[in-house]
Amino acid sequence: MTPKIAVLIWALGLVAWVIIRVPHQNRARKIRVARDAKTVADRLALMAATVGLSLIPIVFVATGFPTFADYPFQPWLGWLGLFIEAAFLWLFYASHRQLGKNWSVTLEIRSEHKLVTDGLYRYVRHPMYLSFWLWAIAQLCLLPNVIAGAAGLVGVAILYFSRIPNEEAMMRAAFGNSYDEYARHTGRVVPKLWLPN
Ligand code: SAH
Repeated sequence: MTPKIAVLIWALGLVAWVIIRVPHQNRARKIRVARDAKTVADRLALMAATVGLSLIPIVFVATGFPTFADYPFQPWLGWLGLFIEAAFLWLFYASHRQLGKNWSVTLEIRSEHKLVTDGLYRYVRHPMYLSFWLWAIAQLCLLPNVIAGAAGLVGVAILYFSRIPNEEAMMRAAFGNSYDEYARHTGRVVPKLWLPN
C-alpha cells in the first residue's frame, strides 16, 4: 500500500458513491412527497457533510492543500481504510436497495410510504447513516492529512446529530406506535443484540 494507492481508493469510493446514489435520486424525483419536514438547518447539515466528505478532500487530492497538515503515510492505515471503505459501500448500496421507494435525500414522507423493518433495518434504524460514519473513518485512514482526513468526520457528525432527532420525530408522527415498537427493538447504528427480535 502506497499513499497514491490510498488516495486512489478514496477517489474510487467517491465515484462508486455517485454510481450507487444517482439512480435512487432520479427515481425519487418521480415519487410524490406526502409530508415535507425538511428545514434550512437540515439543508445546512447536508451541505456540511458534502463539504467534509467531498469538497475538502477533493481540494487536498487535487492540489495537496493544506500541506502543513500532512503526516507520514502509514501502510497499515491504508489497508484498514480499504477494508472500511468496502464495508461503507456495501452498507450504502444495501440500505438504498432496502429502503427502495421510501428513500429521500432529506426529511420527507413519500406517498404510500412504508416503514421498512427488515433486512438491515431489522437490526439498526440508520444503516445508511452508519455507512456515512464508515465512509468518514475510511477517509481518515486513507488521506495522510489531518484536516482533509478528519473533515469527513466533522461533516458526518453535524449531519447525524442534527438530523436524527428530527427524522425520528417525523417517522413517529407518520407511523405512531409502529415506529415506537420498531425503535424499542433496534439500535440507531449499533444493534440491540441483547433483545430478542
Ligand atoms: N435514517 C435511515 C434512512 C436515511 S434516508 C438510514 O440511515 O438508513 C432518509 C429518509 O428515509 C427519511 O426522510 C425517511 O423518509 C426515510 N426512512 C428512514 N427510516 C425509514 C424506515 N425505517 N422505513 C422507511 N423509510 C424510512
